[in-house]
Amino acid sequence: MVKHSSRIELKQSAYKNNINFIRKKIGEKAVLSSVVKANAYGHGIESFVPMAEKCGVQHFSVASSFEAEQVLNACKKESRIMIMGIIYEEDIPWAVEHGIEFFVYNYDRLPKALEAAKKVGKPAKVHIEMETGANRTGMQKDEFAPALNFLKKHQEHLVFEGLCTHFGGAESMANQFKIDMQHKRYKSFLKSCQSKGLMPKYRHIACSAAALAMPDTVYDLVRVGVAQYGFWPSPEIYFNHLHEVDKKSDSALKRIFSWKTDIMDIRMVDQGEFIGYGTAFQATHEMKIAVLPLGYSNGYPRALSNRGQVLIAGKKAPIVGLINMNLFMVDITHISDVKVGDEVVLIGRQGNAVINVSSFTNATQLLNNEMLSRLPAAIPRTVVR
Ligand SMILES: *Cc1c(COP(=O)(O)O)cnc(C)c1O
Repeated sequence: MVKHSSRIELKQSAYKNNINFIRKKIGEKAVLSSVVKANAYGHGIESFVPMAEKCGVQHFSVASSFEAEQVLNACKKESRIMIMGIIYEEDIPWAVEHGIEFFVYNYDRLPKALEAAKKVGKPAKVHIEMETGANRTGMQKDEFAPALNFLKKHQEHLVFEGLCTHFGGAESMANQFKIDMQHKRYKSFLKSCQSKGLMPKYRHIACSAAALAMPDTVYDLVRVGVAQYGFWPSPEIYFNHLHEVDKKSDSALKRIFSWKTDIMDIRMVDQGEFIGYGTAFQATHEMKIAVLPLGYSNGYPRALSNRGQVLIAGKKAPIVGLINMNLFMVDITHISDVKVGDEVVLIGRQGNAVINVSSFTNATQLLNNEMLSRLPAAIPRTVVR
């Protein structure tokens, strides 16, 4: 197979570290569901899922039936998959057939789940998602009693796998009053279950921020996305942790992701010459330039034109000129012993130097999640120790 113009590496030891850390926070009992929507936040479902399984993860959450199929193709038979978002009606039987759990985010989905279960001849595993204040998806309050009656009546075909909700903005302390209100509403739905004598197998509401900072939101399962990839959900959640452990800094979560390419060509440019398209960069002196074989079509933000940096031979090399569709250039005048084919780190560590996703996103106004999840699926991902 021919090579792609860049590659992503996932560090298994760092991931194991993160899982251990999250496990310590949530305790031994709760199921840790690894949220792998958006191609595992850009890390690549195909490589990430088997790596996560090696680290003990057995439950995966996705945003769509499309992603569920990707996980199904990558995971072990025993692993469980949960669809938190869109599953088209015509795909419900497929999910039931494969034992894939899914959110029922409005009442109308229940009879459809029942129909699918009857058609396939297997019970449908449903998680009732409740509206508690995010006003995104979730069943309305007045739909809940009828839903419980429906579940009770059709227990043979419908498994009440979960009762859940999603916090809108748990990573920010300023939203705490809203999160508390959501939690309170959730608890009242649990009470209704109790009085009906129909309890869900799994109660779950916590995302990364809640799992790390709000122990009372950890029930039977937690849905952890961003933290497992080694990112604190927000500075506040990080500072909250520092406060808890009484430390000034703590690298408890480790990045597992690095993005690399190689030098495609090296050339000398005379003083006064322009580099790349237009007149965006003019050489102020004789310069040694490395040409890199990727650009904005490969997920490298164009906003880093003339301002980003890459790592070559353990040193920072500034970007000169515009990021093109498939190429960009960096200044290596100050770096000796560089040759064509040498490794270039776009995000990650090389020697003692580091380029973080955040240094990237500061310049581009992208969120970490946004930047990572946009990386093209075509970039190969490999797991390293
Ligand atoms: C994305 C998502 C999560 C995970 O959120 P993180 O903040 O990345 O941990 C959990 N639950 C639902 C419903 C989600 O959509």
